[in-house]
Amino acid sequence: MQLSDDIVYLKGVGPARAKVLAAELGVRTVGQLLDHLPFRYIDRSALATVSSLRDDGQYVVLRGQVTNLQTTATGKFRERLTCDFYDGTGTMQLVWFAGTKWVREKLKPNITYLVMGRPTLFNGQWQLSHPELEAATSQDTSHTSPFLPVYNTTEKMKSAGLGTRALARITESLVAQLPPMEETLPAPILERFHLMPLREAYINIHYPTSQQALDQARARLKYEELFFLQLDYQYAHQQRVTASEGRIFSRVGEMFNGFYNQHLPFPLTGAQKRVIREVHDDMRSGRQMNRLLQGDVGSGKTLVALMCMLLALDNGCQACLMAPTEILATQHYQTFLRMLDGMPIQVELLTGSLRAAQKKKVKQRLAEGEIQLLIGTHALIEDDVDFQNLGLVVIDEQHRFGVQQRSRLWTKAQVPPHILVMTATPIPRTLAMTLYGDLDCSVIDELPPGRQPVRTYHRIEANRVKVFHFLKQQIDAGRQVYIVYPLIEESEKTDLKNLYDGLEMVHYFFPRPQYQTSMVHGRLTAEEKASEMERFKAGLTHIMVATTVIEVGVDVPNATVMVIENAERFGLSQLHQLRGRVGRGGGDSYCILMTKDNLAANSKERIRTMCATTDGFKIAEADLRLRGPGDIQGLQQSGILDLKLADIVDDEPLVRATRDTVRDLLAADPTLAHYPQLRRHIEHSKNKLLWGKIS
Ligand code: ADP
Ligand code: MG
Repeated sequence: MQLSDDIVYLKGVGPARAKVLAAELGVRTVGQLLDHLPFRYIDRSALATVSSLRDDGQYVVLRGQVTNLQTTATGKFRERLTCDFYDGTGTMQLVWFAGTKWVREKLKPNITYLVMGRPTLFNGQWQLSHPELEAATSQDTSHTSPFLPVYNTTEKMKSAGLGTRALARITESLVAQLPPMEETLPAPILERFHLMPLREAYINIHYPTSQQALDQARARLKYEELFFLQLDYQYAHQQRVTASEGRIFSRVGEMFNGFYNQHLPFPLTGAQKRVIREVHDDMRSGRQMNRLLQGDVGSGKTLVALMCMLLALDNGCQACLMAPTEILATQHYQTFLRMLDGMPIQVELLTGSLRAAQKKKVKQRLAEGEIQLLIGTHALIEDDVDFQNLGLVVIDEQHRFGVQQRSRLWTKAQVPPHILVMTATPIPRTLAMTLYGDLDCSVIDELPPGRQPVRTYHRIEANRVKVFHFLKQQIDAGRQVYIVYPLIEESEKTDLKNLYDGLEMVHYFFPRPQYQTSMVHGRLTAEEKASEMERFKAGLTHIMVATTVIEVGVDVPNATVMVIENAERFGLSQLHQLRGRVGRGGGDSYCILMTKDNLAANSKERIRTMCATTDGFKIAEADLRLRGPGDIQGLQQSGILDLKLADIVDDEPLVRATRDTVRDLLAADPTLAHYPQLRRHIEHSKNKLLWGKIS
């Protein structure tokens, strides 16, 4: 047998089941089945007894014999099969409602069985329906494991006779005849970290000979996962550093200096200065920059972006800024116009909603190099947008842009432009280490002076009148407020209805004309959105009722209260983003999380976290813990953090260890000349890693 063999030839599989395994698990080869790992184990040595059963829904294993098989007709074609199961301490009834014929033929007296399932108490008698069942003495004695593996299965698998026990029998015979496996990790590493050989690890992850062997098998396979993740990223990083040339922006000229000396609206924070320096160092290093800039909401990333773009201009290049929404692009455009007022710089806006003639004109001026600074949405990366000399691309709020979209920027200039990706969704350190191992990273860890921490409260529907009364006080004191409704799918009618119902309620509590309201949601046209935002920004309206379209980057310093309706339906990072819309003007600011009364534990924990801290990194860590990394925004789109065993939060020490090992290894042997198996791995994953060049 070979790992590349089709599973159809494995004992207990056959064509029908092979089809189901392929469809349900994507498992087609023996090797892939080997990689379908148990998610837990049943300890066969920890047997329960009938006399000591408790009615707590626990999955138990019992050992005993069956007697008294009885079939009762329950319908024209249906019957029930029951039997008694005796284990020396008491009797329990086993029941089948389907597949009775097969069970009846299989069950034999005088054979000792292991019976597994969740017994229930029925009329004072213990009962187990459709138990998992197998002979206690396995025919296959090639190995002895006290543990039975439990695998994920699906309904379709179960009805094809591929329940977890059946699957276990298949893996049992697979493990028993497992062919030799080529070691994937270099011998010195195996030795240094006392790692179990690969083949042994695979055998023991399915059928561990002891708890200790299981722990070692897990440790080995986790190490393997994290090691190759690190190798992929660090190798890509090294390639980028050594291979890709970049424009050299060594000049600091009149654009940057003129702005710095005469137009800077406020002194830069220390963190802003440091980041600008880091970016500048990158851009004059002679290699192409790929930098991730993390900064909490309100930390002043826009100004940093602008000043970096001015450096590009000083070196004779064009620069562009790409934002995820039209609202945001328009806002950046206005901010830039205001800040650059009086400077000889051509700034333009390019979004999808420009009229065709306007678009054409902008594109033409761009190609001729007349426009120096372009701001826009994804319209920027359309095929027919040509720059004369694009030197720097800034991408704001990275998580909304797909990797593919970003990669198209690459084609916009002969020499690849420098790329700065800005995100306000803080990424926990371990995740950054794993996921952005090939990106350089800057952090703005300081908010501009005078920021008030936003006070956050949790309220339920019963408090609504009080909450609205509080809003009234704030508005009467000259402040503005946001009320945000969840809109998970922009197409979901009920969500939109919630929004309109909410608006009606707001109008009831805040009668016009004394109180004025704006409303923004995804179904409005870009113009409608912009005009609603404008009215709110100008202070013409007091309340902004909106969906999450305002989540990212909207900046209205006079707004001091953020009410989030159905807050339990938002993720933590989204709540944090929304809260970041207030607390920008120096006035006391508030965030009110409205939820229903009875919250699930997980929602409760999210709300509690929000009330307890405003620290974006703490929130990101909590988010990771509560949702699991697979769910983190942007991760799915990249589809790269596909870890089976390792857990980025719990295995942080291992993440560090593998990172350092790979770093030292690549430093000593950049081409992996001494590690043929690692080289092969790299060659193999090259295609997958192309995007790594981009960010
Ligand atoms: P974000 O990092 O969330 O994109 P912004 O760039 O929108 O944050 O900045 C938030 C607010 O802080 C803006 O109103 C901006 O004008 C202001 N700001 C930025 N830098 C400073 C600074 N150094 N001092 C004072 N205010 C600043
Ligand atoms: Mg921003």
